[in-house]
Amino acid sequence: MSAATPLLSLRGLRKQYGGHDGAPATEVLRGVSLDIAAGEFVAIVGSSGSGKSTLMHLLGCLDRPTSGTYHVAGRDVAALGADELAWLRREAFGFVFQGYHLIATESARENVEIPALYAGTPAPERESRATALLERLGLGQRLDHRPGQLSGGQQQRVSIARALMNGGRIILADEPTGALDSHSSAEVMQLLVELADAGHTVILITHDRDIAARARRVIEIRDGQIIADTGTAPVSEAARRATHAWPPLFGARGHGGDRFTGLAGDLREALRAAWRVLWINPFRTGLTLLGIIIGVASVIVMLAAGSGSQFQVMKKMAVFGANKMYVAATPVTSRDRTGPLSLADVETMRELPNVEVAMPYLEGFVISRRGNVDHRTEVGGVTTDFEVALDWPLAEGVFFDAEDERTLAKVAIIGKRVRTALFEDGTDPVGQTILLDSVPFQVIGVLAEKGALAGNADEDDRVVVPYSTASARLFGTPYPTWVAVAIRRLQQARQTENAIIDAMAVQRGQRDVRVYNRAESIRASAETERTMTMMLGLIAAISLLVGGIGVMNVMLMTVRERTREIGIRMATGARQRDILRQFMTEAVVVSVIGGVAGMVGGVLVAVALRLAGIPAILSLTAIVGAFGCAVATGLVFGYMPARNAARLDPVQALNSD
Ligand code: ADP
Ligand code: MG
Repeated sequence: MSAATPLLSLRGLRKQYGGHDGAPATEVLRGVSLDIAAGEFVAIVGSSGSGKSTLMHLLGCLDRPTSGTYHVAGRDVAALGADELAWLRREAFGFVFQGYHLIATESARENVEIPALYAGTPAPERESRATALLERLGLGQRLDHRPGQLSGGQQQRVSIARALMNGGRIILADEPTGALDSHSSAEVMQLLVELADAGHTVILITHDRDIAARARRVIEIRDGQIIADTGTAPVSEAARRATHAWPPLFGARGHGGDRFTGLAGDLREALRAAWRVLWINPFRTGLTLLGIIIGVASVIVMLAAGSGSQFQVMKKMAVFGANKMYVAATPVTSRDRTGPLSLADVETMRELPNVEVAMPYLEGFVISRRGNVDHRTEVGGVTTDFEVALDWPLAEGVFFDAEDERTLAKVAIIGKRVRTALFEDGTDPVGQTILLDSVPFQVIGVLAEKGALAGNADEDDRVVVPYSTASARLFGTPYPTWVAVAIRRLQQARQTENAIIDAMAVQRGQRDVRVYNRAESIRASAETERTMTMMLGLIAAISLLVGGIGVMNVMLMTVRERTREIGIRMATGARQRDILRQFMTEAVVVSVIGGVAGMVGGVLVAVALRLAGIPAILSLTAIVGAFGCAVATGLVFGYMPARNAARLDPVQALNSD
């Protein structure tokens, strides 16, 4: 900028309100042309409604003209984007309003710090500068007072300090004394005169000619046009020197350049502000939090209860083996030439896809005897596949092997009930001899107890022996009573069942086998349980959604209530994204606090359920997932209100009440 370039230059500036949506068009400024040089002290005087404030908003880049051009330090303002305008407001202008426009919830010093906050000045520098400014303006004792605790004159001095925070190269004061008593009014005027003498460019807007007379140049405006201008007055040498000490406005750093203070500092500042806002209306904040807490906690509890009952069902089923099916032959009518299943049928089943083992089971009843004790029990002729086929391990001893099967060995493995009946005296059964229908067998093992888990003690009333032995020595039949099939993949239980039926139909010439498909019924009930859990989770998720809507509702209210605050922040240099971030932070802080409390609450309730004997299984995935959903809900539902806030028009926001 050369010395000849005016600091502010207006040409044919017009501003029209309305003219669309049915509102009558009114032209408030009707071609204002004006040059203001750096260091001038100008008063713009005119009666109420003449367009002074409108002009000031245009000068301060809070609003854009309908037509005409405006250059600041030689730059056409029309070419600047929203962020660059924010930068210009922050770096070049300091506003002083009739109504002070301080943020009610922040202390005097914090109010003064705001422009530096958006300029990215580090906190210690910010604080010391704000303190120094307030002390200079005689408010050293009021640093931590809220605006409501200060007199009008004091508030106006705070707002002057704020205007000076980033330098205040151009002070725009709109009726700064309008709301003050004569004493405070004189003080404020004295301050403005001193600032002008110190080299600041001061533009004072007033309807009061006496006040205007304190300026070095007086411009009179009426009905949106300049009707008189005293012209640039000679300035003292000291003032001139002070003015030229300013660095060029559009210097090497370029406009729109921001100082980078690091994310951590920004975040801390945003969190501090959000935290404070939450405390302005603790009751409302509490209700919002409650919505999120209930949502998060119910997701956790519902999923825990769901997977708890799912687990119980699975556990019960697993006792019999989740991957089992049982095959038996059933005569359809008495005329059918159907026979029992044969060992060849078992071989065929064993070869089918997805079949892990197919084991024949030859069932019969015998009188078992040891010494003078009799006990009627079931005998099962089985193969060495027994343990896999029926998921039934040994408690003691060993199982018979292939050699025993081949030699029709008289060895037996007894169930728990048989052991209790025959070995009451506490003798170790392994190695002892018992009689099965008068045939002596050597006990080589004891089966693990199954009844306690299965809920059916008869499971344990059983003796198992090699299939060949049962067939030849006990029952005299080669045919299995039924066949136990263990499958590999539970998901294909139904296909395997059909494959068995089809294969048997081909081999036997008719469809006469029945499959009791435990695997399929387990798969189906597991599916049902899973669906139930999902449903419960879904219902809980809906309550989380409702919590999110609560956040949005409160955010919309806050934005509305704080519209003027947003306007003040914009006038002091906040960019749209600063406003967006501020409100998003508030939404996220609420959701995070609610989410954490909800996690704690949900875990406590789930633990209480367990103590009360209701199955509940907490999963980390559900807990973290619920928390994540809460935060995501806050982000999603906070975004719309925050964006509304960021898009507000600075002048409209400032003038709202
Ligand atoms: P002053 O500050 O000189 O009293 P203003 O610049 O505030 O005057 O207003 C000038 C005229 O513009 C007034 O008649 C006012 O009603 C009108 N005006 C100001 N702002 C708006 C607006 N946003 N929409 C419509 N008319 C407006
Ligand atoms: Mg006005």
